[in-house]
Amino acid sequence: MSACDVAIVGAGPYGLSAAAHLKAADGLDVRVFGEPMSFWEKHMPKGMLLRSPLEGSHLSDPTGALSLQAYAAAKENPLTAPFPLHRFTDYGRWFQNQVAPDLDSRKIDRVEKNGSGFQLTLEDGENLKARRVVIAAGIMPFAWHPQEFRSLPSSLASHASAHTDLSRFSGKRVAVIGGGQSALESAALLNEMGAEVEVLVRTPIVRWLWRSPWVHTCRPIARMLYAPPDVGQAGISHLVARPNLFRRLPRLVQNRLAVRAIRPAGAAWLKPRCQHFPITTGRAVISTATFGDRVILKLRDGSERHVDHVLLATGYRVDISRYPFLAVKLLSSIRQIGGYPQLDVGFESSVPGLHFLGAPAAWSFGPLSRFVAGSAFAARELTRKILRNAPNHAAS
Ligand SMILES: Cc1cc2nc3c(=O)[nH]c(=O)nc-3n(C[C@H](O)[C@H](O)[C@H](O)COP(=O)(O)OP(=O)(O)OC[C@H]3O[C@@H](n4cnc5c(N)ncnc54)[C@H](O)[C@@H]3O)c2cc1C
Repeated sequence: MSACDVAIVGAGPYGLSAAAHLKAADGLDVRVFGEPMSFWEKHMPKGMLLRSPLEGSHLSDPTGALSLQAYAAAKENPLTAPFPLHRFTDYGRWFQNQVAPDLDSRKIDRVEKNGSGFQLTLEDGENLKARRVVIAAGIMPFAWHPQEFRSLPSSLASHASAHTDLSRFSGKRVAVIGGGQSALESAALLNEMGAEVEVLVRTPIVRWLWRSPWVHTCRPIARMLYAPPDVGQAGISHLVARPNLFRRLPRLVQNRLAVRAIRPAGAAWLKPRCQHFPITTGRAVISTATFGDRVILKLRDGSERHVDHVLLATGYRVDISRYPFLAVKLLSSIRQIGGYPQLDVGFESSVPGLHFLGAPAAWSFGPLSRFVAGSAFAARELTRKILRNAPNHAAS
């Protein structure tokens, strides 16, 4: 059985950034598994634009040599904002080719404890020993299907993550459920592709991420109010951008700030594209039924909608027990709070040597972990911790 010091499960922004930092450290045998940028390539709609600003969309390497600007220069194609999805996935692959050209795209089927380290089983049955394991496997297993839609077949109701090509709904009547960026942008794309679309939002209003014009024009004021990753409102954004400070706030304050930083909202640039279809607010769906190959949605106000398809842009709820590769015994020894692993310095869980990056780290390190912008902090902290404890040879 082969062995390594660190096995990284996942090759999205977090796994690749962790790889860049760990591989730059001398003497560590690091292996990276997973399909590079697969969540962005296979679970987001073609034509999507990133909501995060360019400054908040870099993957991280130790010297900053692989920034978005470096990518744009290498490709001789200037950056545009908002940044298109297809260019972001291309950026991720360009980054991967440089930091982890030896990446192994096989899936990890199982991670279990083995003595003081871990044993991983790959999809083809090969086994590997690792001293440490970094789980950077993203949010795909956490796609949230609200109860009222669960009885519908997937041909009639599907989660937004099930689609890359929304043009298949051209000429169809589609209800989009949700009031965040994914719902609003999916609806705009559906409308532009010839679907008859209505967005149904539970809350009384849809939030748009406006900034006053004077904030845009006065850079020092913008910097004072918003940290570059631009996660959270004015002022709060600086706390969110400093996870080591954020995590020291009283838990109640952390919870309140986190809710405010990630509540559903649409980017300002999206609003004009959403003027061409109805967005119905304050109306929850209370029941669903099928009628032939259509769906009948009953809303709280007693009205009904008859549609060809329901698109659930209802987000993701972290619950690490949904990672299919975590062995039951290992899972039960990870201290958790509401589905999130409780992490300490270096993003390490209560199982020594097992680390979690990305959204599962949000309970411990705040909302920055839910965004690409958090990958720099995570990769640096992880590397610092691993190097502090690194013996100079691989697991045997
Ligand atoms: C519609 C939508 C739009 C978004 N837009 C933005 C945005 O504009 N800006 C932003 O900052 N964030 C955005 N996000 C959030 C975004 O998902 C995260 O910021 C980002 O993907 C986190 O990266 P990650 O590396 O944690 O996970 P992912 O990008 O999901 O990567 C997970 C990786 O793990 C691999 N993997 C999974 N299971 C296994 C396994 N068993 N074995 C091996 N590999 C495995 C996958 O193949 C993949 O390579 C958006 C999310 C959605 C749903």
